[in-house]
Amino acid sequence: MGLFSKPKHPYWVQHSHLFSDPEYICSECGCKVDFPQPECPNCGAQMGASRDDANWVDEAEILDILMGDK
Ligand SMILES: [Zn+2]
Repeated sequence: MGLFSKPKHPYWVQHSHLFSDPEYICSECGCKVDFPQPECPNCGAQMGASRDDANWVDEAEILDILMGDK
């Protein structure tokens, strides 16, 4: 999803590692957390990216229903 232009709201930047769990880095202050949270524990930024992702998934599911057998 990195090809999209940067959203205006804060978001978590996922950093995957080959031999350890992924880290998530706050786009506002750069602190690292082990998993995405609704707000940054360091600077308190309200994260919106995961909500956008959920909306996208909802639309995909609706499309699947429309294309599927009824
Ligand atoms: Zn932060």
